[in-house]
Amino acid sequence: MKAAVLTKPQAISNRPLEIRDIAPPVLQPGMVLLRVKACGVCRTDLHIVEGELTQGREILIPGHQIVGEIVDGATADLPLATRVGVSWMGGTDGTCWYCRHGMENLCDAPTFTGYTRNGGYAEFALARADFVFRLPKSLDDILAAPLLCAGIIGFRSLRVAGVEPGEKVGLYGFGASAHLAIEVLHEWKCKVYVSTRGASHRQLAASFGAEWVGSESDKPPVELDRAITFAPSGEVVIAALSALRKGGVVAINAVHLDHIPQFDYDRLLWGERQMRSVANMTRDDARDFLRLASEIKLRPKVTTFDLDHANEALAAVKRDAIDGAAVIVVRT
Ligand SMILES: [Zn+2]
Ligand SMILES: [Zn+2]
Repeated sequence: MKAAVLTKPQAISNRPLEIRDIAPPVLQPGMVLLRVKACGVCRTDLHIVEGELTQGREILIPGHQIVGEIVDGATADLPLATRVGVSWMGGTDGTCWYCRHGMENLCDAPTFTGYTRNGGYAEFALARADFVFRLPKSLDDILAAPLLCAGIIGFRSLRVAGVEPGEKVGLYGFGASAHLAIEVLHEWKCKVYVSTRGASHRQLAASFGAEWVGSESDKPPVELDRAITFAPSGEVVIAALSALRKGGVVAINAVHLDHIPQFDYDRLLWGERQMRSVANMTRDDARDFLRLASEIKLRPKVTTFDLDHANEALAAVKRDAIDGAAVIVVRT
């Protein structure tokens, strides 16, 4: 099969992914073999490929927003040709304290798709049968792919921030995840304030109905009840914190941050303001979000690349050159 393979993490400008012909994965018990149709590109893939996340395999196929159809390992629940999605959470042990307490996203021994197990930048991929999700029929393969991490983890971020209907919510950054979260927030009758760099991302936020749009250094005109940050930048987290009302929450949707600058506790965190990270996702997050996405007819804005151009897709994500989400189309 054709696959984009990482052998040595390095700057994306050095084209670290090699497009190779390799043996397809061999079916294992409890797994399904998928023919990959499309795979979304996530900023986490960039962190892996560039070596900022380092617990991965020696030789790795990235990609954790896989849309595929089952071609082997079918079960009664998942017959052959079922179209499913696979996300970042590739498996858990089911036995650790976190798994036993409804927090499988924090599992002590997790498997991550496209990181500790090969992912979807390839023509075939393996996935644990109990960690795949049926996809809404209303969305074709390319539009379903960005829901699987950008969408699910953006949705989890709203839950972690404790968003209530009608609240004022800040989104810091307006990429793949935020442009899906804003639609959910509008469904919940929230007012959304977007701070983001780049004129095209600001235009996109305005076209998605943001109440206010500014650059990353502009302060929203109101105190926010909640804020979600998407940029891998501690400066942005502090900017979000400084816009919160007392008791407000910042949820940090980033698997990696550069650093958190020193900040004034008395002014920024006192008053029961909170900063929380958002780590991974549970299968309930995935199912709840995919159901909602189908109900509200969520349609991501996507830019497509073919598998031969996986390096270019990641480079575009790095430059913030994608409006919406990037998707690698493997087979349609
Ligand atoms: Zn992701
Ligand atoms: Zn566990």
